Amino acid sequence: MPKPEKHFSQRIGWLRAAVLGANDGIVSTASLVVGIAAANAGRTELVLAAVAGLVAGAMSMAAGEYVSVSSQADTEAADLERERFELENNERYERKELADIYVQRGLERELAVEVSRQLMDHDALGAHARDELGLSETHKARPLQAALASAATFAAGAALPALLTAFVPLENMIVVVSASSLLFLAIMGAIAARAGGASLLKGAARVTFWGALAMAATAGIGHLFGVVAA
Ligand SMILES: [Zn+2]
Repeated sequence: MPKPEKHFSQRIGWLRAAVLGANDGIVSTASLVVGIAAANAGRTELVLAAVAGLVAGAMSMAAGEYVSVSSQADTEAADLERERFELENNERYERKELADIYVQRGLERELAVEVSRQLMDHDALGAHARDELGLSETHKARPLQAALASAATFAAGAALPALLTAFVPLENMIVVVSASSLLFLAIMGAIAARAGGASLLKGAARVTFWGALAMAATAGIGHLFGVVAA
Protein backbone atom coordinates (compact mmCIF):
# COMPACT_ATOMS: atom_id res chain seq x y z
CA MET A 1 0.00 0.00 0.00
CA PRO A 2 1.41 3.43 -0.87
CA LYS A 3 2.32 5.62 2.09
CA PRO A 4 0.60 9.01 2.34
CA GLU A 5 3.09 11.78 1.51
CA LYS A 6 4.22 14.15 4.24
CA HIS A 7 3.00 17.73 4.21
CA PHE A 8 4.85 20.50 5.96
CA SER A 9 2.81 23.61 5.31
CA GLN A 10 0.43 23.15 8.27
CA ARG A 11 2.99 22.62 10.96
CA ILE A 12 5.40 25.19 9.55
CA GLY A 13 2.94 28.01 10.34
CA TRP A 14 3.21 28.14 14.12
CA LEU A 15 6.79 26.92 14.16
CA ARG A 16 7.90 29.67 11.80
CA ALA A 17 6.17 32.24 14.01
CA ALA A 18 7.87 30.84 17.13
CA VAL A 19 11.32 30.73 15.53
CA LEU A 20 10.90 34.22 14.10
CA GLY A 21 9.95 35.59 17.52
CA ALA A 22 12.92 33.92 19.22
CA ASN A 23 15.28 35.05 16.46
CA ASP A 24 14.10 38.63 16.88
CA GLY A 25 14.64 38.39 20.62
CA ILE A 26 18.17 37.05 20.27
CA VAL A 27 19.29 39.39 17.49
CA SER A 28 17.91 42.61 18.95
CA THR A 29 18.95 41.97 22.56
CA ALA A 30 22.38 40.57 21.69
CA SER A 31 23.00 43.54 19.38
CA LEU A 32 21.98 45.92 22.13
CA VAL A 33 24.32 44.23 24.60
CA VAL A 34 27.22 44.10 22.14
CA GLY A 35 26.76 47.77 21.26
CA ILE A 36 26.72 48.88 24.87
CA ALA A 37 29.63 46.61 25.81
CA ALA A 38 31.61 48.07 22.89
CA ALA A 39 31.14 51.52 24.47
CA ASN A 40 32.90 50.18 27.61
CA ALA A 41 29.81 50.24 29.81
CA GLY A 42 29.71 48.68 33.29
CA ARG A 43 27.73 45.61 34.36
CA THR A 44 24.73 47.55 35.69
CA GLU A 45 24.28 49.34 32.36
CA LEU A 46 24.59 46.08 30.44
CA VAL A 47 22.04 44.20 32.57
CA LEU A 48 19.67 47.16 32.52
CA ALA A 49 19.93 47.54 28.75
CA ALA A 50 19.36 43.82 28.20
CA VAL A 51 16.31 43.65 30.48
CA ALA A 52 14.85 46.86 29.05
CA GLY A 53 15.44 45.51 25.54
CA LEU A 54 13.70 42.26 26.43
CA VAL A 55 10.63 43.95 27.90
CA ALA A 56 10.37 46.65 25.22
CA GLY A 57 10.78 44.14 22.42
CA ALA A 58 8.26 41.66 23.85
CA MET A 59 5.68 44.43 24.34
CA SER A 60 6.20 45.82 20.88
CA MET A 61 5.93 42.38 19.30
CA ALA A 62 2.69 41.74 21.22
CA ALA A 63 1.21 45.12 20.25
CA GLY A 64 2.18 44.79 16.60
CA GLU A 65 0.84 41.27 16.35
CA TYR A 66 -2.38 42.15 18.16
CA VAL A 67 -3.11 45.08 15.86
CA SER A 68 -2.30 43.18 12.71
CA VAL A 69 -4.23 40.02 13.60
CA SER A 70 -7.20 42.05 14.94
CA SER A 71 -7.59 43.95 11.71
CA GLN A 72 -7.45 40.66 9.84
CA ALA A 73 -10.13 39.26 12.17
CA ASP A 74 -12.29 42.37 11.61
CA THR A 75 -12.05 41.93 7.87
CA GLU A 76 -13.00 38.25 8.14
CA ALA A 77 -15.95 39.04 10.41
CA ALA A 78 -17.21 41.74 8.04
CA ASP A 79 -16.91 39.36 5.09
CA LEU A 80 -18.86 36.68 6.95
CA GLU A 81 -21.54 39.17 7.97
CA ARG A 82 -21.99 40.28 4.35
CA GLU A 83 -22.17 36.64 3.30
CA ARG A 84 -24.80 35.87 5.94
CA PHE A 85 -26.88 38.81 4.74
CA GLU A 86 -26.65 37.68 1.11
CA LEU A 87 -27.63 34.13 2.06
CA GLU A 88 -30.72 35.40 3.84
CA ASN A 89 -31.77 37.89 1.20
CA ASN A 90 -30.52 36.50 -2.06
CA GLU A 91 -30.41 32.75 -1.67
CA ARG A 92 -31.01 31.89 -5.30
CA TYR A 93 -28.05 33.95 -6.42
CA GLU A 94 -25.85 32.47 -3.68
CA ARG A 95 -26.70 28.92 -4.76
CA LYS A 96 -25.71 29.69 -8.33
CA GLU A 97 -22.57 31.50 -7.14
CA LEU A 98 -21.34 28.47 -5.21
CA ALA A 99 -22.17 26.09 -8.07
CA ASP A 100 -20.23 28.38 -10.46
CA ILE A 101 -17.20 28.15 -8.19
CA TYR A 102 -17.28 24.34 -8.40
CA VAL A 103 -17.68 24.48 -12.16
CA GLN A 104 -14.58 26.67 -12.35
CA ARG A 105 -12.73 24.12 -10.27
CA GLY A 106 -13.56 21.42 -12.78
CA LEU A 107 -16.94 19.86 -11.89
CA GLU A 108 -19.65 19.35 -14.49
CA ARG A 109 -22.53 21.81 -14.11
CA GLU A 110 -25.05 19.20 -12.96
CA LEU A 111 -22.73 17.75 -10.35
CA ALA A 112 -21.67 21.25 -9.22
CA VAL A 113 -25.29 22.24 -8.62
CA GLU A 114 -25.83 19.04 -6.64
CA VAL A 115 -22.66 19.51 -4.54
CA SER A 116 -23.60 23.11 -3.88
CA ARG A 117 -27.13 22.05 -2.86
CA GLN A 118 -25.96 19.38 -0.45
CA LEU A 119 -23.26 21.52 1.12
CA MET A 120 -25.62 24.46 1.55
CA ASP A 121 -28.31 22.28 3.08
CA HIS A 122 -25.72 21.07 5.55
CA ASP A 123 -24.09 24.44 6.38
CA ALA A 124 -24.67 27.25 3.92
CA LEU A 125 -22.52 29.89 5.60
CA GLY A 126 -19.70 27.42 6.22
CA ALA A 127 -19.68 26.34 2.57
CA HIS A 128 -19.50 29.93 1.35
CA ALA A 129 -16.89 30.90 3.94
CA ARG A 130 -14.65 28.03 2.85
CA ASP A 131 -15.10 27.92 -0.89
CA GLU A 132 -15.92 31.52 -1.73
CA LEU A 133 -14.01 33.53 0.89
CA GLY A 134 -11.26 30.99 1.57
CA LEU A 135 -11.75 31.12 5.35
CA SER A 136 -11.38 28.00 7.46
CA GLU A 137 -11.63 27.25 11.15
CA THR A 138 -7.92 26.33 11.43
CA HIS A 139 -6.84 29.63 9.90
CA LYS A 140 -9.16 31.74 12.00
CA ALA A 141 -7.36 34.84 13.26
CA ARG A 142 -6.92 34.89 17.06
CA PRO A 143 -5.40 38.25 18.07
CA LEU A 144 -4.78 37.66 21.78
CA GLN A 145 -3.27 34.24 21.23
CA ALA A 146 -1.01 35.59 18.49
CA ALA A 147 0.07 38.55 20.66
CA LEU A 148 0.93 36.37 23.66
CA ALA A 149 2.79 33.88 21.50
CA SER A 150 4.97 36.55 19.88
CA ALA A 151 5.75 38.20 23.19
CA ALA A 152 6.64 34.86 24.80
CA THR A 153 8.87 33.65 21.97
CA PHE A 154 10.63 37.02 21.74
CA ALA A 155 11.26 36.98 25.51
CA ALA A 156 12.57 33.41 25.34
CA GLY A 157 15.08 34.40 22.67
CA ALA A 158 16.06 37.62 24.45
CA ALA A 159 16.59 35.77 27.74
CA LEU A 160 19.76 34.12 26.43
CA PRO A 161 21.87 37.28 25.90
CA ALA A 162 20.16 38.95 28.89
CA LEU A 163 21.22 36.13 31.25
CA LEU A 164 24.77 36.27 29.96
CA THR A 165 25.11 39.96 30.88
CA ALA A 166 24.64 39.00 34.52
CA PHE A 167 27.71 36.80 34.91
CA VAL A 168 30.07 36.76 31.91
CA PRO A 169 33.29 38.72 32.68
CA LEU A 170 33.04 42.20 31.17
CA GLU A 171 36.21 41.83 29.08
CA ASN A 172 34.76 38.73 27.37
CA MET A 173 31.21 40.04 27.02
CA ILE A 174 31.27 40.92 23.31
CA VAL A 175 32.84 37.63 22.24
CA VAL A 176 30.69 35.39 24.46
CA VAL A 177 27.38 37.14 23.73
CA SER A 178 27.90 37.33 19.99
CA ALA A 179 29.32 33.81 19.60
CA SER A 180 26.62 32.11 21.70
CA SER A 181 23.87 34.12 20.02
CA LEU A 182 25.10 33.24 16.55
CA LEU A 183 25.31 29.58 17.57
CA PHE A 184 21.73 29.66 18.84
CA LEU A 185 20.53 31.42 15.70
CA ALA A 186 22.21 28.75 13.56
CA ILE A 187 20.66 25.92 15.57
CA MET A 188 17.17 27.43 15.39
CA GLY A 189 17.53 28.22 11.71
CA ALA A 190 18.43 24.57 11.16
CA ILE A 191 15.49 23.34 13.26
CA ALA A 192 13.04 25.54 11.35
CA ALA A 193 14.49 24.40 8.03
CA ARG A 194 14.30 20.77 9.14
CA ALA A 195 10.66 21.09 10.23
CA GLY A 196 9.81 22.74 6.93
CA GLY A 197 11.58 20.03 4.93
CA ALA A 198 14.11 22.58 3.57
CA SER A 199 17.91 22.60 3.51
CA LEU A 200 19.48 22.71 7.01
CA LEU A 201 22.57 24.60 5.94
CA LYS A 202 20.66 27.24 4.02
CA GLY A 203 18.27 27.79 6.95
CA ALA A 204 21.13 28.13 9.42
CA ALA A 205 23.28 30.34 7.19
CA ARG A 206 20.48 32.81 6.45
CA VAL A 207 19.66 33.71 10.08
CA THR A 208 23.30 33.66 11.16
CA PHE A 209 24.24 36.10 8.43
CA TRP A 210 21.60 38.65 9.45
CA GLY A 211 22.37 38.21 13.14
CA ALA A 212 26.08 38.79 12.55
CA LEU A 213 25.31 41.87 10.48
CA ALA A 214 23.09 43.35 13.23
CA MET A 215 25.72 42.75 15.94
CA ALA A 216 28.52 44.15 13.78
CA ALA A 217 26.46 47.30 13.19
CA THR A 218 25.74 47.96 16.87
CA ALA A 219 29.31 47.03 17.86
CA GLY A 220 30.53 49.68 15.41
CA ILE A 221 28.17 52.30 16.84
CA GLY A 222 29.02 51.36 20.43
CA HIS A 223 32.71 51.54 19.65
CA LEU A 224 32.34 55.01 18.15
CA PHE A 225 30.50 56.26 21.25
CA GLY A 226 33.01 54.58 23.53
CA VAL A 227 35.87 56.36 21.75
CA VAL A 228 34.10 59.72 21.83
CA ALA A 229 33.19 59.40 25.52
CA ALA A 230 36.63 58.20 26.63
ZN1 LIG B 1 -21.62 33.57 -1.30
